[in-house]
Amino acid sequence: MSGGLVLKRVVVGVLATNCWILHARGDRRALVVDPGDEPGRILAAARGLDVVAVLLTHAHFDHVLAVPDLAAAWRVPVLAHPADAPVWPHEVAAARRAGHWDAGTATAELLARDPASLAFPAGAVLWDGAVTPVADGEILRVGPLEVRMLHTPGHTPGGVSLAVDGHLLTGDTLFPGGPGLTGPPLSDFPAIIRSVRRLLDLPGTTRVHPGHGPDTTVAAERPHLESWVARGW
Ligand SMILES: [Zn+2]
Ligand SMILES: [Zn+2]
Repeated sequence: MSGGLVLKRVVVGVLATNCWILHARGDRRALVVDPGDEPGRILAAARGLDVVAVLLTHAHFDHVLAVPDLAAAWRVPVLAHPADAPVWPHEVAAARRAGHWDAGTATAELLARDPASLAFPAGAVLWDGAVTPVADGEILRVGPLEVRMLHTPGHTPGGVSLAVDGHLLTGDTLFPGGPGLTGPPLSDFPAIIRSVRRLLDLPGTTRVHPGHGPDTTVAAERPHLESWVARGW
């Protein structure tokens, strides 16, 4: 929490995705970002709030699996950048072929530890992929909060980061120690570097909340940008 912002983290799913629930202190209207799995826990965490929308930083399976259940419970729009439209169909097609979700470089280890952990849910209701498009620079109002959309492609073509009240939700675009993976299909390293450069132009005190793992700040990461460019990942 800082200022008027309440930012609640719910860690969900096999890849320990950070699902975020944000609202202004003293206001019930809330935005839910990246409901990656475990809809029951997200519903419980949002109890007492009036969820106005779900927003996806991108459409990888580990950020969207709870969307159908939550959209049915809350009857709210699912916001995402339209350039990510190919990502979810690609995720589903790859999972159908392989019999499990593709977790990138973590796949082999996860399957070795627990073959069921990435299981493609044969009979389950999958998200239909329908979104309400958001655009770069758009301001989404959540009660008194102004949440600014930043199109930050590279990890996926339609990745977005959210800037609100000195905080930045970066999805899988920026983590402590570098940009997100650009090995997956539809990823692009030069594009993610352009996106990260733009994010690191924000004030140094900006708190960065990635899609997995711990937080960082713009000031902590900015000095390392050129070394990430040089290493190429
Ligand atoms: Zn991702
Ligand atoms: Zn992820």
